[in-house]
Amino acid sequence: MGRGPRVVLLGKQGAGKGTQAARLAEHYGIPHVSTGELLRAAAAAGTEFGKKAEEYMNRGELVPDDVVFGLLAERVAAGDRVENGFVLDGFPRTDTQAIELDRALEGHPLDIAINLDVPTETVLDRIAGRRVCENCGATYHVSLPPKKDWTCDECGGKVVQRADDTEDAVMRRLELYEQETVPIIDYYRKLGKLEVVDGEGDGDDVFKRLVTAVDSRL
Ligand code: AMP
Repeated sequence: MGRGPRVVLLGKQGAGKGTQAARLAEHYGIPHVSTGELLRAAAAAGTEFGKKAEEYMNRGELVPDDVVFGLLAERVAAGDRVENGFVLDGFPRTDTQAIELDRALEGHPLDIAINLDVPTETVLDRIAGRRVCENCGATYHVSLPPKKDWTCDECGGKVVQRADDTEDAVMRRLELYEQETVPIIDYYRKLGKLEVVDGEGDGDDVFKRLVTAVDSRL
């Protein structure tokens, strides 16, 4: 096949979506599009979209669709060609977004929607210890910090706790995941696009499972 896969990666906060989406993107040579990263970058840059998004994000609420769609449209306008494949991380999160995505992909449908499945106890533990590079988004854990002084191994940026990884915001994000995002798992199941991948255990093993799932759809 001459093109990369078109992949949606679903999963709770802390399931490992960001890390695994980046690895999949590298493996298949496709763009990794994380709406969370786009929103955090817009917030850090203080753009109009970013300022609007930040207050929602810090409370663990979903950012309004016009902002999320606006950032995705900017990204597509900057040159990502959907037909050549992509891995979407953190989008769609609601049924409106899932329907809008299908519409936007007209003629170039998704190959696979993956539910990266991890129990809630595990994600709570992961998020409590999660630290991220505020520059490039690389993820660490207090039990596995960067080599030097909370400085990112990848880019030298500062490694910090995310503003929305507080207990209250995390509980709200998990609640919204159940309410808004779990229904779209069913939506993809009915469309025959869903694969459930076990997200527990060693990251390399999880990655192999993901590649097997994606390859089975190509
Ligand atoms: P994430 O990095 O995927 O955990 O996203 C961090 C935060 O960004 C979420 O808690 C939301 O506030 C916001 N966000 C990310 N993606 C979306 C989306 N598709 N729709 C609405 N809000 C989003």
